[in-house]
Amino acid sequence: MELRDKRDGLLELDLCDRCLGRQFAMLGHGLENYERGVIARAVEDLKEDSFVDRDPSETAPSGEDCSLCNGLFEDLEQYVDQVIQALEPYEIRTLLVGTRLPEEIERAEKEIWEDFGKKRAEPTKTELNRLVGRKVQNKMGVEADFERPDVNAILDLENDRVELQVNTSLFYGKYNKYERGIPQTIWHCKECGGRGCEKCDYTGKKYQESVQEIIQKRFLEAADAEEATFHGAGREDIDARCFGRREFVLELHHPRKRSIAPRRIQEKLNESQSRVELFGMDETYKDRVAEIKEKKADKTYRAVVRLSGDITEARTGEITAIRGTIRQRTPQRVVHRRADRVREREVYWIHAEELCRGVLDITVKAEAGTYIKELISGDDGRTTPSVAGRLGCEARCEKLDVLDIG
Ligand SMILES: [Zn+2]
Ligand SMILES: [Zn+2]
Repeated sequence: MELRDKRDGLLELDLCDRCLGRQFAMLGHGLENYERGVIARAVEDLKEDSFVDRDPSETAPSGEDCSLCNGLFEDLEQYVDQVIQALEPYEIRTLLVGTRLPEEIERAEKEIWEDFGKKRAEPTKTELNRLVGRKVQNKMGVEADFERPDVNAILDLENDRVELQVNTSLFYGKYNKYERGIPQTIWHCKECGGRGCEKCDYTGKKYQESVQEIIQKRFLEAADAEEATFHGAGREDIDARCFGRREFVLELHHPRKRSIAPRRIQEKLNESQSRVELFGMDETYKDRVAEIKEKKADKTYRAVVRLSGDITEARTGEITAIRGTIRQRTPQRVVHRRADRVREREVYWIHAEELCRGVLDITVKAEAGTYIKELISGDDGRTTPSVAGRLGCEARCEKLDVLDIG
């Protein structure tokens, strides 16, 4: 369809300048759609190059009688206020405004495109997003972010409300754990699944405390957030301590505050208790979670091992020979939640010293994912070679510490 014919046809529909101009939105630079509308109306022999900057019309006709928008754009300021009011409880730095149009406008627009083509046109929704978004951002002094804004505000014109999608805020850090018997994340009671029962003293938890809870409490308070997810770069066993500064990301859901000084929270937390120590807390980005999860870090452990029989001092040397590739079938203690298969892992070095009769102090550096307790016990032959296998007696890991990660 010729540009001129398209325009002539559109003129019969009683459109406002904005809605008329929007059908030519891809033509001309630096123009608002209502200016394009004025041009389309005024230039008799309309061509692609007719859309050049002219003095904007001071007398844009009211949109109230427009058969497409029905006066939608007359209320811009009201929408802006509506969005700002909805955002009031939140401290935000980046924002994206979207709109949901009344159904009759979507329908009217579709009909126009069916009759006159969609080429060169901009959807009503896109223009509204842009206009309202820009005004809200200017008034609030926040930036637009099309990737991951702090909040997605959807102006729902069909239902006359504003819907907010509040993105999580994320904090990266490292922790050490100095006390045994603390799981990394919240561990729900098996009996009640977290609802609370007699068995768990109505706490819903199997362990009363976790590294996650010790850390997240102050962050939740500072951010006025509802809950948190703890993403650890692997985890040590409940009964193992960790001195290797394990990486994690703490993700806060529905935060109302975002500038919360993570370093100061770290300091306060470190001063107030001695079970967990934090290092390097800082704001981070969403992809950091996957990045730390994918890292395969080698680890160094120290284990206190009790043997079923006496061994001579000389035999501790045989443990050193375990170095190299070992084969581990999924340990019996975790096989209920992990696939039962054999993995090969690298033991870089292992060293043993006798602490007292029948008790060894073993340090070992092994590849990420090595099961250390089983490397010691042999797990009924599922791990080979093993300390127990080498010594020909039972060997049980009594205490385990992560000394170094990476
Ligand atoms: Zn209109
Ligand atoms: Zn329970």
